[in-house]
Amino acid sequence: MHNRDAVFLEDLCPKLRDRRWRQSLHTFTENSCIYCGQRSESIDHVLPRSKGGLSLTKNCVPACLSCNGNKSDLDAFEWYRKQRFYDPRRSMAIRAWIEGDLRLALRLLQWAHPKPKKPTKNTSSNTNNEFSCQAA
Ligand SMILES: [Zn+2]
Repeated sequence: MHNRDAVFLEDLCPKLRDRRWRQSLHTFTENSCIYCGQRSESIDHVLPRSKGGLSLTKNCVPACLSCNGNKSDLDAFEWYRKQRFYDPRRSMAIRAWIEGDLRLALRLLQWAHPKPKKPTKNTSSNTNNEFSCQAA
């Protein structure tokens, strides 16, 4: 992937721009699901698209596939309160996020999920890791 080409291609291909935007959302939370802290692999619409939610940063949060699929078209906060990994700090973070205060949201997330000293082994490795490199 050549960066220069990507910038150029972006103008030709809106999908690429969308991709980069999504990537930037994941970067905000360091690839962790805003709901549960697992690896984020998708973008969840806080207000579902089916209910008029827009694909804007304010309405889109990084989420793991499990949360995204689970939540489906439910109200994000209602759904989240019922989860066993519910954390009020994360809930506040999501609230801040959708109000457009990303800085506050990220601080709350950091508070809820301090950086682990060493990477913990994930028991479910059923997801393909796009960052893994296969040695030639
Ligand atoms: Zn999750």
